[in-house]
Amino acid sequence: MACTLDSKQVEQAQALIEKALRIVIVTHMAPDGDAMGSALAVYHYVMDRFAERSKTADAEGPQAAPAVREVSVIVPNAFPAFFNWMPGVEQVKVYEGNARVCDPLIEQADLFICTDFNDPKRIGPMGEKMMANTCPKIMIDHHIKMSGERLSVSGEGSWANVEFSFPEASSSCEIVYRLIVDDRFAVNTQIATCIYTGLMTDTGNFQYNSTSCELYEIVAELVRAGVRKDAIYDAVFNQYSTDRMRLIGYALYRKMRIYPEHHLALITLSADELDQYHYKAGDTEGLVNMPLQIADVRYSVYMREERPKPGTPKPRIRISFRSQGDRPVNVWANEVFHGGGHANASGGELFGSLNQAVALFEKTYAKYVKNE
Ligand code: 5GP
Ligand code: MN
Repeated sequence: MACTLDSKQVEQAQALIEKALRIVIVTHMAPDGDAMGSALAVYHYVMDRFAERSKTADAEGPQAAPAVREVSVIVPNAFPAFFNWMPGVEQVKVYEGNARVCDPLIEQADLFICTDFNDPKRIGPMGEKMMANTCPKIMIDHHIKMSGERLSVSGEGSWANVEFSFPEASSSCEIVYRLIVDDRFAVNTQIATCIYTGLMTDTGNFQYNSTSCELYEIVAELVRAGVRKDAIYDAVFNQYSTDRMRLIGYALYRKMRIYPEHHLALITLSADELDQYHYKAGDTEGLVNMPLQIADVRYSVYMREERPKPGTPKPRIRISFRSQGDRPVNVWANEVFHGGGHANASGGELFGSLNQAVALFEKTYAKYVKNE
């Protein structure tokens, strides 16, 4: 489906970027390809835009030279190593364990650009810090808005000054692409590479959320801009460690339960099990999709236990939901597991034991899974 950016909003965003001296770009916890891609594409766009401006300013004389700008990208926690090659990734700061460096940047920012999330809760403890700074905020996102137990797509009560919110977009990277093009700014190879990464990962390499012709027109432009699409696929999807491959095997062989009458699969992995395979961020990326390859399985849920962190006495259970076709899982994720997301791909969490999470899952699935 097409998403057309409002030209007034594009102008507003341009004016905010033009005025800002200390920009902080942020994206959601457990950053995925779309989060990394959209944040880094915005980073390159903003940096290139300033570089261009300073060239024209130089030509106009020293009085017109803009002040030195500081642009930071901060992600709430570690991103998978298979994004380590992305252009600009070396300057990304990880908030978790690094608050001493990040907090002053957040406190002194005069503009935030937030990509791939629409609720400050999605960036964890960083969200409170960001919201304590009343400076302008630009939001670029493609999730349906969740407010409490209600699903809504309206923009009321937004915390952002300019909102580019398109639940129909394939990815946040698609929206960033449109923003840059609408700004008549060149999508160079670096920007194109970041954007392609988000398009590719958020559509499962063009399996879902990818029926619109416009999307392939964008892909064509990105390839024209120098994207090496096969190399990006290889860098993201073909980089398993042996431990990671064995962990996936163990999860599918020993830890997958099927609820045949509900066409539902559940995989759980405890912190101890993850330790056995030296789990690292991103190692179970894609695992939740695998049970959907079984002919009769239409819903898949994956629960991963995280050990308690200082200040949180209980373990955190991260829960991923996936489904096929007209079988939304975001209401389930939202109402039972404090999360949300897209109709066919959602997430949530529970502070407690894995057993408690499974009990809650078993108590509620009949209500949220279609009886067919
Ligand atoms: P994943 O299972 O890959 O972590 O997340 C799947 C989708 O659900 C992603 O699009 C993600 O943005 C969304 N999602 C995951 N966790 C949450 C959450 O806690 N709250 C909301 N609103 N969305 C989430
Ligand atoms: Mn996304």
